[in-house]
Amino acid sequence: MALIVQKYGGTSMGSVERIENVAEKCIAAQKAGNDIIVTVSAMSGETNRLIALAHDIHKRPSPREMDVLMSTGEQVSIALLAIAIEKRGVPAVSYTGGQVKILTDSAFMKARIKGIDSDNIRRDLDAGKIVIVAGFQGVDEHGNITTLGRGGSDTTAVALAAALHADECQIYTDVDGVYTTDPRVEPKARKLDRITFEEMLEMASLGSKVLQIRSVEFAGKYKVPLRVLSSFEDGEGTLISLEEENPVESAIITGIAFSRDEAQVNVVDVPDQPGIAYQILAPVGAANINVDMIIQNIGIDGKNDFTFTVPRGDYDTTVEILRKTFPPETGVVIHGSNIAKVSIVGVGMRSHAAVASTMFQALAKEGINIHIISTSEIKISVGIDEKYLELAVRALHEAFGLDKA
Ligand code: ADP
Ligand code: ASP
Ligand code: MG
Repeated sequence: MALIVQKYGGTSMGSVERIENVAEKCIAAQKAGNDIIVTVSAMSGETNRLIALAHDIHKRPSPREMDVLMSTGEQVSIALLAIAIEKRGVPAVSYTGGQVKILTDSAFMKARIKGIDSDNIRRDLDAGKIVIVAGFQGVDEHGNITTLGRGGSDTTAVALAAALHADECQIYTDVDGVYTTDPRVEPKARKLDRITFEEMLEMASLGSKVLQIRSVEFAGKYKVPLRVLSSFEDGEGTLISLEEENPVESAIITGIAFSRDEAQVNVVDVPDQPGIAYQILAPVGAANINVDMIIQNIGIDGKNDFTFTVPRGDYDTTVEILRKTFPPETGVVIHGSNIAKVSIVGVGMRSHAAVASTMFQALAKEGINIHIISTSEIKISVGIDEKYLELAVRALHEAFGLDKA
């Protein structure tokens, strides 16, 4: 008998009919001879609705209360799914994160899982029950409700699979697998049968929200076989596998990720002297703001320009911090703009030197100006004007022949 963890996302749980469909799928998987643990998200739109309610009351609601609020969405889902399964004569039991208990640190709204108590779950599975666990939530050592960051139900599912040594973790969503890029932006995107953990990690961290990045980290670390599938159609989906199980064939680039959530900060006319990068970036890092792409121009006349990117929501705080280091009387000009980031990802890139020039040529042909570039062994990212985002994704998809198998 295999143990399978299934996770159903917001769209899959989006209405009573869809919840009944999920119930049927869980029961079918159990009838096929498996133990089943199910993790579910809030019904689609519910988490956004709850956040908006809080913001109608307060501009900066406290993270602790946000977690008490946001976790209710998943609690509704687990109860409705348990009711739908029981209606079909199959025993089921639902648990909130606190009831399981999924122990996290106390970083409200972005908590990390520290451990999972699997005793209740094992007992219920042994009794033939389908066990339903609320995604996205846990409890800290003081009993406070915590949440795991947007998209966090993926991480709940993988963490449960790791803790209970499941044979597979199946992420059911509204697409039938991981594609070469978001199929909503490039209709010619092609479904991948397999992708390596390393590539999926880059794709997720660079903006492909099909899996939350922490879920991929967890799956790689604990070697949980992970599969992305459709809730609405049958199919094999996409298997996220180790590189050695997934020998790289001819593909140089596996996929294209993108993010609209970026802002560029320009620090102009800083003194061209040792330690300046540290002086600019250290206080930003100390405020827990993630600096991503960085460029520094060659200094002229003892002055230099320094540019970097931060998440859009952190732009105002970043400028405030920089102004403390460089008050107006220093002559340093600080400005910035929203940008989009487009990245090509592929382990095959390691052995192909011409990838960057193919990328830059494709963007040049469309007249797209690159503001900032960053690279790693298996990715190249560029910062561009947001209005060119879709055009850039499609041009790169074409240039690297990603629509062809
Ligand atoms: P869920 O509610 O099931 O967690 P999400 O909306 O979080 O679903 O993730 C699924 C969505 O991810 C898809 O609808 C798709 O638009 C988007 N997506 C982004 N990049 C990709 C990709 N490379 N492959 C597949 N889907 C992607
Ligand atoms: N409901 C949460 C969110 O919308 C968690 C999830 O769906 O994974 O972010
Ligand atoms: Mg999701």
